[in-house]
Amino acid sequence: MRKNIETFIACDADYDDAKVVMFGAPFDSTTSYRPGARFGSAAIRHESYGLETYSPYLDKDLEDIQVFDAGDVELPMGSAEKALDAISALTAEILDDGKLPLTIGGEHLVTLGAFREVQKRYPDVHIIHFDAHADLRDQYLDVQLSHACVMRRCYELISDGRIHQFGIRSGERAEFDFARAGHTDFHPFTFDGLEDVVDELAQQQKPVYFSIDLDVLDPSVFPGTGTPEAGGVSFDQLRKALTIVCRRLNIVGLDVTELAPTLDSSGVSTAVACKVVRELLLAINP
Ligand code: MN
Ligand code: MN
Repeated sequence: MRKNIETFIACDADYDDAKVVMFGAPFDSTTSYRPGARFGSAAIRHESYGLETYSPYLDKDLEDIQVFDAGDVELPMGSAEKALDAISALTAEILDDGKLPLTIGGEHLVTLGAFREVQKRYPDVHIIHFDAHADLRDQYLDVQLSHACVMRRCYELISDGRIHQFGIRSGERAEFDFARAGHTDFHPFTFDGLEDVVDELAQQQKPVYFSIDLDVLDPSVFPGTGTPEAGGVSFDQLRKALTIVCRRLNIVGLDVTELAPTLDSSGVSTAVACKVVRELLLAINP
């Protein structure tokens, strides 16, 4: 007999054997509209048992790869800064052990906690960012640590042209102006241009942090999220795009954020998120 400890399905490798370490960051205190993302990581872990471990898209099986699921980090809901510090501390430990961190949100601000540590170790890192929202505000209601500002905070750690944004279809005019001025590499609405970006980053052998805000999906596919935006991509478009990114690039950290499971009583959004995580795990393991 073994202890009854829940992990994402088939992600029960020993820490020492694992190449990928996933953990939940159940934080949603800066959510601007509908809260609930704090329940995302636990829901993904629990509902993953409804999935097959085998991916017919990739002809690979979670049973054949080594992933450690560290569970959820304990986070103070009253302090974004302290929550980010806790995420950074765990990310640092995983990176220093030579493993790849996969953060499961939580709202999108949690990316900053992981990215800070990745950026320290890979100063020439680029970000590939899938989202409905630009997340480039300097502040939201006078708050700089907000999920609406997360890519702006990441931008401040790197430089122009190193955040490659896809699927963006919402933001204030100033964010679109900021992006279109060349501060980010901006591809609104769709994944058009992704293959060219991947070709270039692969050729230059750049380290890449990959951030997926699940609201890049259309709300008809994925309504269980805090800030749904009509006009998004399909599951299959997202699956193909993430496969290209993970297969061809040197991924040094990644995250999946913004599932708010209680906002979709059908449970379909959680099932979609689980499948995204499975495809990611299988695509990044060669
Ligand atoms: Mn976002
Ligand atoms: Mn978003």
